[in-house]
Amino acid sequence: MNPFSYTRAVDPQQATSVIGSNASAKILAGGTNLIDLMKMGVERPTQLVDINRLPLTQIEELPNGGGVRIGGLARNSDVAEHPLIVQRYPVLSQALLAGASPQLRNLATTGGNLLQRTRCYYFYDPAFPQCNKRQPGSGCGALNGFNRIHAILGQSEQCIATNPSDMNVALAALDAVVQVQGAKGARSIPIGDFHRLPGDTPNIDTNLQADELITAVDLPAIPFATRSHYLKIRDRASYAFALVSVAAVLDLQNGKINGARIALGGVAHKPWRAQKAEAALQGQTADEKTFRAAAEAELAAAKGYKHNSFKIELAKRAIVRALSTAAAMA
Ligand code: SF4
Repeated sequence: MNPFSYTRAVDPQQATSVIGSNASAKILAGGTNLIDLMKMGVERPTQLVDINRLPLTQIEELPNGGGVRIGGLARNSDVAEHPLIVQRYPVLSQALLAGASPQLRNLATTGGNLLQRTRCYYFYDPAFPQCNKRQPGSGCGALNGFNRIHAILGQSEQCIATNPSDMNVALAALDAVVQVQGAKGARSIPIGDFHRLPGDTPNIDTNLQADELITAVDLPAIPFATRSHYLKIRDRASYAFALVSVAAVLDLQNGKINGARIALGGVAHKPWRAQKAEAALQGQTADEKTFRAAAEAELAAAKGYKHNSFKIELAKRAIVRALSTAAAMA
């Protein structure tokens, strides 16, 4: 691990000022991903800015029935178990509980989860020379290497990595809005614009600016989000990242689909909002035939590689099962 200095931020302004003036400074929150990356030599910050004492742990209703605000430092376990989340946004609670282990969820924060980096094997191994995300211009080891966990949608020739988060998939389906604060003030970023596809710059995961800190995540009021389900398919029953996951939210009226929100995990560089599937479901009868047609529509553009083509059919089946489970809810 390289030497670094340590600063404990006393307020968000100080934190943003430090990271804005030192390009190699990193925010330290739960540290559940960053410390691993530092130990591996993938991240080499010269300064850590500890924000754990900042008052950003709230989980509270927004005024006028406007939804729920989750503080950037709210721990994953606290969010997953909070009555406002369990009752109004069960898909988010389920996604969080499907992630990592209880010990990790007790430390991992909402902001940190949004910034989780890919679990691509080549990215994590600095001894391996080819990784455009770790070393821009070096190539992509996964493209012709072992790519079982890699992307089938939205990838580029530069990078086929996936976003590993479960929480992010549920936030994408719920149209969450990320609140950030920077040296120039505060701004709101819709979740769909927060994470990036790899394109020619896979080294840049998000549209968060260098001097910006995640202060909160807002969930809009979605009355039908009580009918929602998170399905995670993985190699073992716990403490594993998703091969494919689905966050499904259904608005049903007399057996017809009035609206649907679907996001996929484990298949793309960002949580993948399944807009083609959503369009295919609109106004249709909620049955398996409809769900399969929606899944086919979404995965029509999917492209697999040597070891991950199985994900295409797996994603279709996962969409059908998640929608069927949501539709069957009382
Ligand atoms: Fe690096 Fe992305 Fe290729 Fe993995 S998929 S080796 S993260 S460039």
